[in-house]
Amino acid sequence: MSTNLDQVRAREAANLMHTYGRQPAAFMSGTGVWLMDVDGRRYLDALSGLAVTVLGHAHPAVTQAVATQAATLVHTSNLYFTEPQIALAERLAAITGWSDARTFFCNSGAEANEAALKLARLHGKRRHPDAIEVVALSGGFHGRTLGTLLATGNPAKHRPFAPLGEWVTHVPHDDAAALDAAVGPLTSAVLIEIVQGEGGVVPLPGNVLRAARDACDRVGALLIVDEVQTGVGRLGSWFGWQSALDGVPVQPDVVSLAKGLANGLPIGAVIARGEAAKVFEPGDHATTFGGGPVVCAAALAVLDVIEREGLLERAVQAGARISSAVTDLAGRHPLVSGVRGRGLLQAVTLHAPRAGEVTAAALDAGLMVNAVAPDAVRLAPPLIISDDEIAALIDRLDRALEAVERKETA
Ligand code: PLP
Repeated sequence: MSTNLDQVRAREAANLMHTYGRQPAAFMSGTGVWLMDVDGRRYLDALSGLAVTVLGHAHPAVTQAVATQAATLVHTSNLYFTEPQIALAERLAAITGWSDARTFFCNSGAEANEAALKLARLHGKRRHPDAIEVVALSGGFHGRTLGTLLATGNPAKHRPFAPLGEWVTHVPHDDAAALDAAVGPLTSAVLIEIVQGEGGVVPLPGNVLRAARDACDRVGALLIVDEVQTGVGRLGSWFGWQSALDGVPVQPDVVSLAKGLANGLPIGAVIARGEAAKVFEPGDHATTFGGGPVVCAAALAVLDVIEREGLLERAVQAGARISSAVTDLAGRHPLVSGVRGRGLLQAVTLHAPRAGEVTAAALDAGLMVNAVAPDAVRLAPPLIISDDEIAALIDRLDRALEAVERKETA
């Protein structure tokens, strides 16, 4: 182990709360899909942070936008108007295709979902004073605030913090009838992901998406799509719902965004249409930093580059290339069972719960991936990844799999 990494580790252990099981690497700088560690070693970042840096590291357009805005105006508070926030809301309305879209900006995915849940609660209460309930999916992940933690469909994560309340019902992610049965007169919202990211890169079946829309329409509840991980082009469309059912979109009422929107700067957004767009009134919800000029300028640059460079189409092509290369690996590696996901959110699935070992061997081979489930390794590279870089990714993954399989036979 390197002295530099050992020193970083010791200082971290003494000074930071122990909330993260970190991998043995400390990064200093990055460019494109590549990261450099404290010992000068290069890694291919096939995770984009955690599905964040859609344009790769140190993208010049984002760097320029941040530098220019930081030299102009960093903060005024939301008591006043600022141009980048309004321009970004206009741009988000354009990419949803909703003429009546309105946006609330915050700082993270959890905050975006928390705002969406508060919005749904106010909306539900207009219908009935007790219409505050939410139906969400098992395996879904929505954040770590008390509300979004309760909405997260993973009971093990609830237990240490229980009781969290009883206003969320979880149904299996692939059971349209159970979802329909769970939605009733007191439901304020149905909360779903188009592909469950943290839940293991699990695409939502089309009939469940349709059932969610129909059930919401039946009782007057809001359909909230959590696009924190899937939005901003990762699935090959601006939002996952736009390409979910062979191009026949099921329109949500509310969408949450974060991760990729400002390529790594902290931003979250809730976009709503129709009645949902008009629910919040002054005093109902607020944040000090949300929608600040610098992060909004960065996000505008991200959206410009995605559009100018055709990165939505590129995400589809690159995703297909990766999934076919992983299918080839499955033919050669007994450990690999296949691949699942959409666009540039894919999981290499394994026959055994050895994703942690593959992740560690990949890091040794200079590749960053993560064990999103005991038997699934997540790949979420930047949208700018080239064909040569995909070849390098697959080559390193190949070597990592070989190393893990060799251990088994040794
Ligand atoms: N929603 C989804 C789908 C996510 O994947 C995540 C984070 O992984 C969140 C919400 C929470 O976002 P944040 O970590 O920015 O609070």
